[in-house]
Amino acid sequence: MEQHAANIRAASTESVDLLHASRRVLAEAIVADRDLPPFPRSARDGFAVRAADVAMVPARLTNVGEIRAGVDVSGITIGAGECIEIMTGAAVPNGADAVVMVEHTFRMHQDVEVQSAVESGANVVPRGSEAKAGQELLKPGMRLTPAAIAAAASVGFAQMKVYAQPRVAILSTGDEIVGVKDAPLAHQIRNSNTWSLTAQVQNAGALPIPLPVAPDEPKALRALVEAGLDSDLLLLTGGVSMGKYDLVELVLRELGAEFIFTGAQIQPGKPIVFGRVGSKYFFGLPGNPVSTMVTFELFARPMIDALSGATPVPMRFVQARLKSDIKTKTGLTRFLPAELSGEFSQTEVELVRWQGSGDFMSAARANCFAVIPPDREVIKAGEMLSVIPI
Ligand code: AMP
Ligand code: MG
Repeated sequence: MEQHAANIRAASTESVDLLHASRRVLAEAIVADRDLPPFPRSARDGFAVRAADVAMVPARLTNVGEIRAGVDVSGITIGAGECIEIMTGAAVPNGADAVVMVEHTFRMHQDVEVQSAVESGANVVPRGSEAKAGQELLKPGMRLTPAAIAAAASVGFAQMKVYAQPRVAILSTGDEIVGVKDAPLAHQIRNSNTWSLTAQVQNAGALPIPLPVAPDEPKALRALVEAGLDSDLLLLTGGVSMGKYDLVELVLRELGAEFIFTGAQIQPGKPIVFGRVGSKYFFGLPGNPVSTMVTFELFARPMIDALSGATPVPMRFVQARLKSDIKTKTGLTRFLPAELSGEFSQTEVELVRWQGSGDFMSAARANCFAVIPPDREVIKAGEMLSVIPI
């Protein structure tokens, strides 16, 4: 799947303003238009001094004025035996090479007594030390974080070029599935997968296109699959197991699909299929609601990243300490709904009780999936466990 993701051509681009840049994928480099900081910046409230003047303390200096943040200091020079009161964020004037914190000084009318020595450069952030004019700050392919947006803003990007969000069609299948607003008969199930997937697709930074539910009947299913293939990616749910009416693979084969993999050694989610029809990729996700959610996170999200123009990043798990023993069957890697609790470095994880991969009420109480390696029958409380936060 990684190779397929790597071969996807970059999506088209558009311009967004800062207000709409969050989580979009950059399609251009963000380059510094000036040195940052643009002037030697005071990191403290205190007095700008010549470090040499305060090598021996206490030292008595003449205060020649005050510099607030935002003041032009081009006309100010600090001479030997002089200092100037300065605020955090203000420019350090010529002649001064250090700032003494106000806590280490004592005012005596026009003079200031400096009580502790500072080295040259102390409490001064040199011009250009954070970035040089012309330096590339952010690379294309990066998903914009709040800090990245701050960096773009500080070098004058009111708008930036980003990749268009991929359109992801969502097609739930099953004769028993009815719309949320319909009155379900006793043997019918309201469609929930379409809505968990729309949320996951939005969360992944793409545009969900929910389609009407497809029945377990080849002709109608085929028409909806064809409609779904108009989008950049098609997610199907249900109908990929071994049942007599699991028709998704059959219909995709009729449409000339190439299957890249069928099945994965995971639980829930074992029957997942991945392939393409022409240049359009699809996933057939298992219909059990928790399987649908897990397989989206493991397989569909990285594909959406690729379609979004994002530079691939390896999947990273968070580590948490297990709260109580787990017993499972070996053979498959398991992704079980779990709850992270605790705080700071004391994060703990515990499985939520569930009735199997159809039980999404337990998934709704969970805030992560715990990853259980395929070779572990028992994991003891106190061991570290990988989790995928949700
Ligand atoms: P399937 O993968 O089609 O065999 O479905 C597995 C289980 O998931 C069955 O119990 C289905 O009723 C249920 N299911 C399938 N699709 C949905 C859906 N869209 N919303 C809620 N449950 C579903
Ligand atoms: Mg079904």
